[in-house]
Order: sequence, then C-alpha cells, then structure tokens
Amino acid sequence: MSNDQSSAEGAAQPPRLADADWLKRPQTQAVFRALAAGGYPARAVGGGVRNALLGVPVHDVDIATPAPPEEVMRLATAAGLKAVPTGIEHGTVTVVADHIPYEVTTLREDVETFGRHARVVFTEDWAADARRRDFTINALYCDAEGTIYDPLGGYQDIVARRVRFIGDPEERIREDYLRILRFFRLTAVYSASAPDPEGLAAAVRQRDGLTRLSGERIRQELMRLMVAPRAAELIEVMRDYGLLALVLPVAPRPQFLKRLAEIERVQAASPDWALRLAVLAVEVPEDAARLRERLRLSTPEYETLLLAAEAPRTGPRPDSSVHEAKVSNYRRGARDMRRQLLINWARLDVPPNDPTATALYALPEHWQPPTFPVSGADVLKAGVQPGPQVGKILAELERRWIEADFVWERERLLTELDRLVSR
Ligand code: ATP
Ligand code: MG
Repeated sequence: MSNDQSSAEGAAQPPRLADADWLKRPQTQAVFRALAAGGYPARAVGGGVRNALLGVPVHDVDIATPAPPEEVMRLATAAGLKAVPTGIEHGTVTVVADHIPYEVTTLREDVETFGRHARVVFTEDWAADARRRDFTINALYCDAEGTIYDPLGGYQDIVARRVRFIGDPEERIREDYLRILRFFRLTAVYSASAPDPEGLAAAVRQRDGLTRLSGERIRQELMRLMVAPRAAELIEVMRDYGLLALVLPVAPRPQFLKRLAEIERVQAASPDWALRLAVLAVEVPEDAARLRERLRLSTPEYETLLLAAEAPRTGPRPDSSVHEAKVSNYRRGARDMRRQLLINWARLDVPPNDPTATALYALPEHWQPPTFPVSGADVLKAGVQPGPQVGKILAELERRWIEADFVWERERLLTELDRLVSR
C-alpha cells in the first residue's frame, strides 16, 4: 500500500466545504447529530465530497463512521430517523431523514476480496477505511462543519482531475474487476485528459477478469459511462486496448457515438444511455438481443436498441421531407420519431446543426399527429358488409389521408369513402 501518497510535499490544501448546500441541509445535519448523540464522529465521503470539491452537482451523500452498524441503527431510530439495514453484513445502513436516504457505512478494511464480496473487518482507523476505497478522488472525507480530511492526498488528484487507483492498480483490480469499468467511467466523467497510464496498463493486463462480471454490474457502470461527457473517447480507448469486446458482444463504432453526443448537445436533447448504446453497437436485431442477454437489459432498453436496427427503414433521415417525419411521428409517436432521426443522423455524416435535420427534430414542438377521424362504423354505414373488407377499406382511406398530409377533414374523408365503396 503506497502510504507515500499521503505525504506528497507541497500538496494543495483542500478548502473547507462549509457552504455546500447538501452539507448545510437539515437532513444531513440530522444524521450527523444522531451519531454524535452516541459519541461517534461521522464524515461524508465519496461522491458527495468529490463532486463538491470539483464544483459539480452532488447526487447522493455517503457517510462513514466508526459506529458499528447496530449502533447506527439504534442511534438513527432514537433520533426519529428511519434506519434500513441495506447491507448490514458489510456495514451499511441506509438512514432516511425526511425522505432523503444516506448510506451510512462503518469504517472497515476489506481483508479478503472475491469479486464484489469481501470479508470485512470494522475498524476505527480512518486511513484504513480510505485505503479500501478505489480511487484517490473517492477517499476524501468531510465532517459536519465542512472540514476536509484527506488521508491519501486525493485532493491533488481532484485539482489535476486525475483518476488514480489507491495502492497498486493491478492488485486493486484483482480484488474487484468492476474497478476497471469504474476507472473508465470516472475518467470519462471527471477527467479532461487521457486515462492514468498506470491504471490503464493494469486494466489491460487484467482485462480477462471483465468476463467474470455479472451483467447487472456491467450495466450499472456502463449506463453512467455511456452518458459521460467523454463517453466516446473512453469507449474508443477501451476498444483500442481490447477491453470493450469483453463486456459488449458486438462490434462497436465509437465514431457514431461521438456524433450522437455532438448532435444531442447542439439540439439540447438530454442523453439517454440506451439510445447511445444503440448507436454505438446495434446494426441488426441480433445485436440488440445479444446486448439484452449480456447486460440483463429491461424491455424498454431492449426496445430502444431495436430502434437502431430498424431506423434506416422506418425512421426519418436527416434529409427526409417534413411529410416523412410526420408519417413517422404519426405511426410511432414523437419520441421514437426523434430517436430514430437521431440514430440515422449520427450514422450519416451530417453536421449536428444541419438546418433540415434540425427542423425535423423540432417538428413535435409545433405539430401533433391528428387522430384519424373515420372509424369502422362509418364504413358499415357506407354500406359495406361486416368482415375483413371493412378493415381493408379503412386502411386504404387512412393511406390516402396520410398521403394528403393529414389535412382532410372528416367530411372530405366520407366523400372519399363513398367513392371507394362505390367502386
Ligand atoms: P456516485 O454516487 O456519484 O456514483 P460515488 O463515488 O459516491 O459516486 P458510490 O457507488 O456511491 O459512488 O460509492 C461510494 C464510495 O464507495 C466511492 O466513492 C468509493 O470510495 C467506494 N466504492 C464504491 N465502489 C467501490 C469499489 N468497487 N471498490 C472500492 N471502493 C468503492
Ligand atoms: Mg455515492
């Protein structure tokens, strides 16, 4: 374990976090107070502290404390908070304060690690708790008053936006191969430069371990990697070093992902991880099926992947007519029309601010598909005998209505119906 990381000379001093919203929030303070009532210190750790120091939004707050999990349960309950033993065997209790959940985890060392399971020993040693964590930027702590504790010198890496393993990268990866994916995910989200060379080399050496990861765990990391600002770049690195093929059983095309991210940015479309995966890796329906199997995808995610297999046939292209986009919108809804447009747009080398494509993307803002104003009852009234003929006539009528760009009113359609029936 490289303890020298903690004593790097001239290291920047972390600021106080006293003004962070999430820290001042009464719910957060209530959790700190509950533990203090039992005489236990507590410190926020992980994503909350990391993101606050980086100046990016904080999603959830994890708290570390030397209090054993049973004590955390008891003290939280005594303070009128809800306590749920979500991972009590490795020390985690979820404490809910006024609808906000906090993962409170007892300081621990992972003495033996086998994949996601570790034999854990609870400790009162903050530095030991820091060393079992994955990256230096994830091992900063902050107390209720906002004082930062940095046992491993992670703050320098925050400043440099560098994702570095704690300790020997290869050893840390062997303990849990998910850390390979976390390394690329965190680099894609927080870093501005190439992946840390030592981390990358270790990931490449240990890459076969990726095949042992469960689909659920891969999916969890991949979801976040895919929507990261530098997703395409890091996916490309993973492909170039032979890592991607071990998690995705398809042939990836990072250049499409890169273009999609650009288009989303210009069109102010919020990124959807499944759509990004679709553009990256789905050419034929079999790709979608293989990904569903490997990543244990939900049905809506799978259906998003299928859109990419169908888009060349059923979706508007960036150079389609407005009418074609309307038909797609009418047939499949605004959301899928837009998603298929984005897929085709990203695949063809059309600029992200292309005026024609931009207008098609904006269509649902000013055009709502009308409801077809004629029904089977109208066809019967026109004198057609009940049977398959009714549906056929209705479909032909709808086809003509669509061809006329949806503008015919009911009256016009009934005239058209009479004409069809009298033939
Ligand atoms: P975010 O919640 O924004 O994803 P986070 O860093 O808080 O970021 P969590 O999954 O909530 O991520 O984990 C909390 C902390 O637990 C991390 O910051 C890290 O210190 C530690 N951690 C999480 N996963 C691992 C892992 N696989 N190996 C070692 N430490 C981990
Ligand atoms: Mg977290």
